[in-house]
Amino acid sequence: MKVLITGGAGFIGSHLCETMLSQGHQVIAIDDLSTGSHTNIAHLESNRDFQMVVDTVLDTQLINQLIRECDQVLHLASAVGVQLIIDQPTKTIQTIVEGTRVVLDAAKRYRRPVLITSTSEVYGKGSKIPFSEDDDIVLGPTSTRRWLYASAKMLDEFLGLAHWYETRLPVTIVRLFNTVGPRQIGQYGMVLPRFVQKALKGDPLTVYGDGKQARCFCHVSDAVTALIKLSQCKDGYGKVINVGSEEEISILELAQKVIAMTDSQSEIEFLSYEKAYTQGFDDMQRRVPDLARIKELVGYRPDYDLSGVIQSTIAYWQNQ
Ligand code: UDP
Repeated sequence: MKVLITGGAGFIGSHLCETMLSQGHQVIAIDDLSTGSHTNIAHLESNRDFQMVVDTVLDTQLINQLIRECDQVLHLASAVGVQLIIDQPTKTIQTIVEGTRVVLDAAKRYRRPVLITSTSEVYGKGSKIPFSEDDDIVLGPTSTRRWLYASAKMLDEFLGLAHWYETRLPVTIVRLFNTVGPRQIGQYGMVLPRFVQKALKGDPLTVYGDGKQARCFCHVSDAVTALIKLSQCKDGYGKVINVGSEEEISILELAQKVIAMTDSQSEIEFLSYEKAYTQGFDDMQRRVPDLARIKELVGYRPDYDLSGVIQSTIAYWQNQ
């Protein structure tokens, strides 16, 4: 198959390109390098089955041309990272909503299956754990910029499902939960690369709030395996599907575990959300995926446990 991967030079996108190439597919990656980077895909550029296009998914003509050439689209291009989203709200909305509209319109024109990556952020302030795909959704107010990310991604989901409903365009929606691993950078807020880099330098690890908020961290290679299997699963069309890990850890415990695993002398310091982000910032306390649907569809089982996920991230930063 020939696949188009939008956001192909990003953290998850670059791993996806690599794995699809290793499975014998041809890959075209498009990325505007806003948060992605050339270094993520530099090792793929000599591969004859790989083509990199540095441009934006907002270019309708280009996207039409690329989708026409391909058998399938995996749409990962998006604004990412809590810090970036609250710093660049208009750009975030435009990239997410308009980018997905352009991709879906072109996919509809050439009848190409599309997998759209959404996010566990859409579960917002939900308190029923674990989060199932058909649960009700509670978000914070529009005056808190964090929630625009979830709202924009929800609109993408609605649009994708609308295309499936109206014309049976094969659309699969995936909600990714805290994906981590090699090549993820801490610049836009992501906690694990930040903690690992600081622990390796012996600098203090900064825990926001009281550190009792908890997350489940999924290794990027498990997420990529799931994305590929789902993109090839016809029973997933017209569905929203969680991808993540079920192993939960509080952020304070994560900081302690990273320090122990790196044998670091780093200390842990606490910072209020107001100082870390902005006034009126809202965090979610817990975020655990219900994986029943993906297990049923593709028999998903992550290879990495939490220690393996952290170890892999440490090994990556030790080599940088
Ligand atoms: N966090 C933290 N210190 C940091 C970066 C993040 O304590 O240097 C916290 C953040 O407030 C959140 C959790 O770690 O509660 C996960 O943050 P991340 O941005 O990685 O993902 P998300 O908030 O999207 O789950």
